[in-house]
Amino acid sequence: MSAEPAPPLEERLAALDERDLLEERYRPRSGRRSLPMRAYYGVKPLMPRPLQLALRRRYAKRQARVEFPRWPIEPILVERQRAALRAELDRRGGTALPEIAPWPDGHRFAAVLTHDVEGPIGVSRVREIMAMESRHGLRSSWNFVGDWYPIEPGLFEHVRAEGFEIGLHGIKHDCKLFESRDTFAAELPEIHRRLAEWGADGFRAPATHRNPDWQEELGARYDTSFPDTDPFEPLAGGCCSILPFFFGDMVELPITLVQDHTLWEILQRDTIDLWTQKSDWIGANGGLINPIIHPDYLDTPARLRMYEEFLEYLAAQTDAWHALPAEVADWWRTRRDLRLVEDGAQARIEGPGSHRARLQWWSADAEGGVAPSVGREQSFTVAD
Ligand SMILES: [Zn+2]
Repeated sequence: MSAEPAPPLEERLAALDERDLLEERYRPRSGRRSLPMRAYYGVKPLMPRPLQLALRRRYAKRQARVEFPRWPIEPILVERQRAALRAELDRRGGTALPEIAPWPDGHRFAAVLTHDVEGPIGVSRVREIMAMESRHGLRSSWNFVGDWYPIEPGLFEHVRAEGFEIGLHGIKHDCKLFESRDTFAAELPEIHRRLAEWGADGFRAPATHRNPDWQEELGARYDTSFPDTDPFEPLAGGCCSILPFFFGDMVELPITLVQDHTLWEILQRDTIDLWTQKSDWIGANGGLINPIIHPDYLDTPARLRMYEEFLEYLAAQTDAWHALPAEVADWWRTRRDLRLVEDGAQARIEGPGSHRARLQWWSADAEGGVAPSVGREQSFTVAD
């Protein structure tokens, strides 16, 4: 008896709607790790670290050529949204189409910085890296593991006093949280307790483990554990989105840049081109730039220099909303509850927080697509 051949990728994707893609339903529920990955992580604890790295580097070339989601950019949701807008424009007969712009106050896109602190070395670098970001007028979130290493008294107070924020990076970094429903249920009360005790805003799962059916139960102000596309992590795949979305009432902020560890250790790049090129694309498409930087890996002058170069790049993006992840999450909730009221050729936005919202008008372009323009005013009129 032979197995049915899998239908071609295009056919499989056509059967999936936006929600299916956000929840990574493009692969079977079981066997979420590919076979070589499962074999690798099975024997990894027995391997010396240089051998681990050598194997991951060799395998990375194959991972980078993954069919779906493509890496470093998977444009499927951006393309689908634009195609839908164009179809609606054509249906209406060429009038510009209003929507509530993704970002407040006329910003074209958004950028956050997030850090996962893996160990004591990372803890010891928090203040230095914060100072570097402050020099560029930027702020970030710091995700600490609950029971994994000592955290000096006063560090959280310092982080908050400087206008930065705290998040929870799991209770332990043993990656067992999402292993089964039992392990998840067992750790959940401690996660809730720790979020409250720390006054933590966000949650980032160790090793970006995740499960779309459980994520909302984490109960943080936001979660940021789903990459848009990342073939290199233990759980390869991604939600394909460069915009936040919801799991129930939980805002998910997708991780949208290649991780620092992958960039430097696995791909062995000595430039930040992958960060700036992807950020350019995210900016052009009105998305959220959301990298993970581990202070633990900012351990050479060259890496510190590259990180500072990225901060310079970001600070120069004057069209961007430079915000804390919690501010982005709060805005996304505000935006969800706003109403777009169309009135002939005019439109306006109503609801709490609407003074920060802007209309974005889509019009047809010559290439059969659409182009956006964000208004400076809350409401304005487009002539037919
Ligand atoms: Zn981590």
